[in-house]
Amino acid sequence: MNARQAELIAQLSGTPVLIWGARMTGLGLIRFCRTHNIAILGFVDSDPAFSGKQIAGLPCHHPSVLPDLRMRDPGLKIIVAASTKEEEINSKLLEFGFSSSDFISYSRYCDLFYTVDVMGTCNLKCLSCAHGATEEKFPRGLMKLETYRHVIDKIVAENDLVTHISLYSWGEPFLNPALPEMVAYLHQHDIAAALSSNLSIKNEALLHKVMQQDPEYLKVSLSGFYPEAYSDTHNGGDVYLVRSNLLRLRHYINKYRLHTVVDVNYHLYNNNNGKNLERMRELCNELGFFLSTTYALVMPLERVIEKLEGRASPTTRVLEEKLLVNIEEGITAAATSNHQPTTYTADNCPFMTNQTIINWDLSVPICCTTFNRGPNIVANDFLKVSKAEIFANKQQASICGTCVRHGLPAYNLGLNRSRWETVAASKPSFDLAADA
Ligand code: SF4
Ligand code: SF4
Repeated sequence: MNARQAELIAQLSGTPVLIWGARMTGLGLIRFCRTHNIAILGFVDSDPAFSGKQIAGLPCHHPSVLPDLRMRDPGLKIIVAASTKEEEINSKLLEFGFSSSDFISYSRYCDLFYTVDVMGTCNLKCLSCAHGATEEKFPRGLMKLETYRHVIDKIVAENDLVTHISLYSWGEPFLNPALPEMVAYLHQHDIAAALSSNLSIKNEALLHKVMQQDPEYLKVSLSGFYPEAYSDTHNGGDVYLVRSNLLRLRHYINKYRLHTVVDVNYHLYNNNNGKNLERMRELCNELGFFLSTTYALVMPLERVIEKLEGRASPTTRVLEEKLLVNIEEGITAAATSNHQPTTYTADNCPFMTNQTIINWDLSVPICCTTFNRGPNIVANDFLKVSKAEIFANKQQASICGTCVRHGLPAYNLGLNRSRWETVAASKPSFDLAADA
């Protein structure tokens, strides 16, 4: 155990603690706490999908009940474990009457969160994604297991504390046949595994093997219950296959008594937020999975900048007709947040400061929002460049000035959700195949 880990253990021991952040960062921290016999009371999360539910065997509270919880337990401490929204949460805690000595920033101990994109391609071509927006002009491939092990070894060697690693960025990880071994390798290092999939995956044997490794977090991204709505935006996917795989997940979780948190992330468009959403919510409730909603965005960052600078591609124009919150509206909504700096600079952009992405070919992009090769790559080979050099190179990336000037860090964080909801509610919606 190193000094930083010992300090964190001392901070969390012998005091009632809640973790704010019930997704992968919080789940990684729970794994660490359990390894070190630290009792945690539960989670706090503002996502209504999680509030009032059990996560990893612990209760998850909505932030609004924090004052009551504190009245019952005056020594209550909160550790904020949310990789990109820490400042917003800290502001809310101050509003709830906590003083800064009552909450702990997890990023003080775990200052960099890693994503390893083990698969550089996808079987779908969603309209909102780089895979659906661009011709196949960049190389696509997969990370080999041996290379992956070197990557994980380097991450562990360069950091005092690593509690979770995400194995996806722009690719579909369930296309990599070594995924079960990759999850197992993280667990050998006592690191939690976070996965994300479209689940339109025909490889039942691989799904089974991955689940047997008990990954801590599995996000399933989709955009409809009926094929008409789903396939309109998850181009090339099969929602019947997705739904049958959701049943398989429940079967594996029951059979092997797994702890995996399945987080169904429903992308909201103007053609899928009525009956489609209702039926998917019913299915998730039956299966005991979380369903969270997110407004579909235009991705990647390069494409957003093109649009803002008057060079929107035909696919971007088609996509924008389906969005509930368009780019300009999203930028305005995010910029009016009370809880976060309304103008980020590259120096305080959380995508810059607390994350490192490693692509399947070992190149390192400036952040997770960019996709193109070329100047947005800050290191060509992660294994040959130190953590400090990567950070220094990031600070030279020219795209950050453009991104900040357009207000895109806050937009990509989706800040000020209530404002996005107001904008979305003012838009006409219909529901494809609502009467199916
Ligand atoms: S499933 Fe995900 S990674 Fe694949 S094309 Fe769609 S949004 Fe992109
Ligand atoms: S490109 Fe934008 S979001 Fe990414 S690190 Fe730079 S400023 Fe942040």
